Amino acid sequence: MITTENMIEIRKTTKSRLSEVDFEHLEFGKIFSDHMFVAEYREGQWRDAVIRPYGPLSFTPAISALHYGQAIFEGLKAYKNERNEVFVFRPEKNAARLNHSAERLCMPDFPEDLFVDAVAQLVKLDNEWIPQKEGESLYIRPHMFATDESVGVRPSEKYLFVIFTCPVGKYYANEIKVRVETHYTRAARGGTGSAKAAGNYATSLLPTRKAQKDGFNQLLWTDALTHEYFEESGTMNVIFLSENKVITPEVSGSILDGITRDSVLTIARDWGYEVEERPVSVKEIVDRLKKNTLDAAFGVGTAATIAPINTIQHNGTNYQLKSYHSNDFAQKIAVYLDRLKRGLEKDQHGWIKRVM
Ligand SMILES: *Cc1c(COP(=O)(O)O)cnc(C)c1O
Repeated sequence: MITTENMIEIRKTTKSRLSEVDFEHLEFGKIFSDHMFVAEYREGQWRDAVIRPYGPLSFTPAISALHYGQAIFEGLKAYKNERNEVFVFRPEKNAARLNHSAERLCMPDFPEDLFVDAVAQLVKLDNEWIPQKEGESLYIRPHMFATDESVGVRPSEKYLFVIFTCPVGKYYANEIKVRVETHYTRAARGGTGSAKAAGNYATSLLPTRKAQKDGFNQLLWTDALTHEYFEESGTMNVIFLSENKVITPEVSGSILDGITRDSVLTIARDWGYEVEERPVSVKEIVDRLKKNTLDAAFGVGTAATIAPINTIQHNGTNYQLKSYHSNDFAQKIAVYLDRLKRGLEKDQHGWIKRVM
């Protein structure tokens, strides 16, 4: 159980919006729970940590986040099981990664114990918003942005750190079609690819929309320099299964170090699979597709969990993957992870944190 040691003022809403929500039709990220956590950084310190009703914040159009992009975020989920126990999955990893992102964007550290505590208290207060059916959860969105009112390019001296939550269902209903992107770039070595920086997503929108117009769900990004090596996909890392080996691009400076990725690789090793974290060339994967030795490809991330890929397009050629049947590795991992996150499997690695 997470203990709450930090001083967080709690101001509860006088009118819950819970009864207005249609839990049968949850659109991802469109419904916001009753409360949010807010803290402000000024004069060199985080202050005024408060959980208060979800709603507008006020600031002027001159805040620096809007102009120079000092804005970072995290994403994690809370799960409720049939016994009404509530868990969050590896929140301390998100707290640490937020600070990794903060460092790269020249933003202040947020205390990691306060991050975990704020998540736990917020989830506990709004626990009735956690949907319980298979694939459903409460998506938690911590984020930090610069609030200096100043139009000069320099690191802000003021920031807000905010957490809100959204009841969500499945992210992708079906298997996904992806296209290998060989023109546009998501991130380059030395850039901000390993940070969950808002600007990374802004630059991905146009190439992703182009792919979506052509009928694909997502892109598979390749390296900025040669476009010959896989990086990741949208907001997911990518994992391949071939000849009983689990193959994935190593986390370099331009790939986001996903917590789902790390969890899946750890479980694969626990289950006796050989795991290879190394550069993975497009050529290697296309060769495996041609020889019919690619058993699976899937995206892994908190929002989608495991998103099996059924089509990969490269240079105009569509390669079809084997179907995702029930004894597949990806399917087995997805089921196991879902049960683990709901407290229904033995937690060998100390990954789940009970909130209530
Ligand atoms: C968030 C994200 C991921 C997945 O990370 P998780 O910790 O597993 O949710 C992968 N790639 C990018 C670019 C991301 O933003």
